[in-house]
Amino acid sequence: MAFFNIALAPGDGIGPEVFEEALKVLHSIERLYSHEFSLKEVLVGGASIDETGVALTDEVLDTASTSNAVLFGAVGGPKWDDPSASVRPEQAILGLRKGLGLFANLRPVRVNPIMFEDSALKREVLEGTDLVVVRELTGGVYFGRPQKRWTNSRGRQAVDTVRYSEKEFERILRVGFELARSRRKKVTSVDKANILETSRLWREIATEISEDYPDVEVEHLLVDACAMHLIRRPADFDVIVTENLFGDILTDEASMLAGSMGMLPSASLGRRRKNGTGLGLYEPIHGTAPDIVGQGLANPLAMILSVALMLRYSLGLEKEAEAIEVAVEKVIADGYRTADIAGGVQSKVISTSQMGTLVDEKIELSQKE
Ligand code: NAD
Repeated sequence: MAFFNIALAPGDGIGPEVFEEALKVLHSIERLYSHEFSLKEVLVGGASIDETGVALTDEVLDTASTSNAVLFGAVGGPKWDDPSASVRPEQAILGLRKGLGLFANLRPVRVNPIMFEDSALKREVLEGTDLVVVRELTGGVYFGRPQKRWTNSRGRQAVDTVRYSEKEFERILRVGFELARSRRKKVTSVDKANILETSRLWREIATEISEDYPDVEVEHLLVDACAMHLIRRPADFDVIVTENLFGDILTDEASMLAGSMGMLPSASLGRRRKNGTGLGLYEPIHGTAPDIVGQGLANPLAMILSVALMLRYSLGLEKEAEAIEVAVEKVIADGYRTADIAGGVQSKVISTSQMGTLVDEKIELSQKE
C-alpha cells in the first residue's frame, strides 16, 4: 500500500462541480488499488478572497508545498472581475505555480477517433493527432516587471515586460526534448524570433540543446505559423515546446482538436526525482465557465483526466492512470457526451454528474474483468 498527501483546491464556478466527479474517480482508485490518499481541501481564488481577503494564503501555499500533489479546479468569475482590483482570483494559480517552482506545463492533446464526427475539423485533418504542448510557466510577460498603467499628455499608456533568462529557457527546453525521447522523437520549438529579442535567445538555446539530443528531430516554427499548422496538420506534431504566453494561446487552440476545453487536462511540474516523480499541480485547461455554472452542463473529463496525470507524474501510479484514461475512452466509445462535445447525431447527451458516474463505473468494471 502506498500513502500520499494530496491538496484539493476546487476553486470557483464550475471548479467544484467538475471536482466532485474527479473525487469519485480518485476514491475508487484508492479503494480498488489499495492506496491511501490523505486529502486536504483548501480555499483558493474567489472563494478564498471572500473568506480571507486574498486569493492564496500562506497556509494554503504551505499545505500545497508539503503535499505530493495539488489537484486544482479553476478560479475566477464575474464577482471578482474588477480589473482595477489589487486582489484577483488568478493570483492563486500564478502564486501556486511560482511558489511551488512549477515551471513546466504539460498539456497532452489526443483526439479519440470516435469523436471525429463531434469535431469542427475534418476527419482527414484530425487522424493520428497525438501531441503534447510543453509550456514555460513561471516566466515571461505574465511575471515580467515593469507591468503598469499611467496617463500622460498622449492619453492612457500601459506596459508589460517579457523577460527570460538562459536558465529558464534551458530547463523548459530540456523537458520538451526528454519528453520527445519517450514519444515519437520530434520537437517543434515555437518562438517569434523574427521580431522578439527573447525569442532570438530562445532559438539560440533551443539549437544548442538540440545537439544533446541527436536522436530527436527538431523543427523551429514562428508562433503565428504554428497556430496555422496546428489546425492544418495537427498529426505532424509530437512535442511542441514554447514560452508562457505562446503556450497559453496555442493550447486553447489545440483544445478544439480534442473537441472542447472540457476535454483537456494539464500537469504543472517542477524539479523531478530520479524516478521521474515530484510535486505537481494538476488542473483542467478551462476556466470557471460562468455561463454554464450550476446547470449540470460542465464536462468533467478534463478534470478527471487531470487526476490521471497526477497519478502518473506525481504519484508514479502508471497503471492506475491508464485505468482512468481507458475508462474515459470507453464511455466516449459508448456514445455518451456532455453538451459541449455532443456534435454527432449518435451522441447520448448526459450531465456532469452522470459523466463522472459512468467513468467511475467503467473503472470498477475494469477491475472485475
Ligand atoms: P472558460 O474556460 O471558463 O470558458 C470558455 C468557454 O468554454 C465557455 O463558453 C464555457 O462554458 C466553456 N467551457 C469551459 N470549460 C468547460 C467545461 N468543462 N465543460 C463545458 N464547457 C466548458 O474561459 P473564460 O470564459 O474566458 O473565463 C471564465 C473565468 O474563468 C474568468 O474569470 C477567467 O479568468 C477564469 N479562468 C480561470 C482559469 C484557471 O483557473 N486556470 C483559466 C482560464 C480562465
